[in-house]
Amino acid sequence: MSNWSALAEQVLGGTPISTDDARSIVRSGDDELLPLLEAAFQIRQTFHGRDVRLHVLQNAKSGKCPEDCAFCSQSSRYDTGVDQYRMQTVEELVEGARHAHAMGAVKYCMVTATRGPSARDLDTICEAVRQIKAEMNINVCTSLGLLKDGQAEQLFEAGVSRFNHNLESSRRFYPELCGTHTWDDRVATVKRARAAGLEACCGGIMGMGESEDDRISLAFELQALEVESIPVNFLDPRPGTPMGHHERLAPMDCLRLLAMFRFVNPSRDIRVAGGREVNLRQLQALALWPANSIFVNGYLTTPGAGYDADIRMIEDAGFRVAELVEA
Ligand code: SF4
Repeated sequence: MSNWSALAEQVLGGTPISTDDARSIVRSGDDELLPLLEAAFQIRQTFHGRDVRLHVLQNAKSGKCPEDCAFCSQSSRYDTGVDQYRMQTVEELVEGARHAHAMGAVKYCMVTATRGPSARDLDTICEAVRQIKAEMNINVCTSLGLLKDGQAEQLFEAGVSRFNHNLESSRRFYPELCGTHTWDDRVATVKRARAAGLEACCGGIMGMGESEDDRISLAFELQALEVESIPVNFLDPRPGTPMGHHERLAPMDCLRLLAMFRFVNPSRDIRVAGGREVNLRQLQALALWPANSIFVNGYLTTPGAGYDADIRMIEDAGFRVAELVEA
């Protein structure tokens, strides 16, 4: 059995783990799981205490996306029966923020199913952001696809603090996920957002058929990009997509992966994101040992456990909902 606690102390002392260490984490045995999570918690607690940051998603424009991401029920290429609607109005977006604020969320994230935002959609988002910031204390994140020159600056000036753009997996595996844009296109948008002053929220999806090394590679790519926030999603196979028949990951494997992401990116916000309920099942609460953030109130196209159940899980496990000090 490895000495996970010593590895955590090494990380806290400023020496990053190696890819071999990361491999040892994801390959560790079931008997090592609790010591591994305890060590991941040593790191998590140093940077985030027992706080759990709540994030709320708003699907601002659903379905009919021209891109062909093989995991995504919102791609127009697949017959998935997902809701399809145009860009929501400014009032609908602001109302969503009021709802998120009432739930105690620190972050409200407006998401559109697009290759990238049109000038008109960007104007709608920016106007909603200005009204939200004038009315309530909440951080605003947006996830709008690939950004062109000047668009990140427009979002920043409107009051957006963070931009989400997931790398999804490794550079090697990405062509198997998507043929309409590249992994490097995505990295370019992350860099563009950061250059404009936005924080980067950037993670991936586990369980799409990628290898162990693809997962580890993603964790280290995110370390190199110095992204502030890492959503770790677990594939919830969507009927009608090319991945609709994939097997879900085992709950203990999900926990080992979250621990690996924590060891590689010690200080970052690590969010146990989409697919939490259906992949981790009864072990969900243990995800709070490595992760310090969750989505509440469901995901873009699938429901979650529900706000009350999530709050109960956090409190039953001895954690607390993080408060927003200032936005
Ligand atoms: S770009 Fe986003 S919304 Fe469009 S298919 Fe890919 S993951 Fe889905």
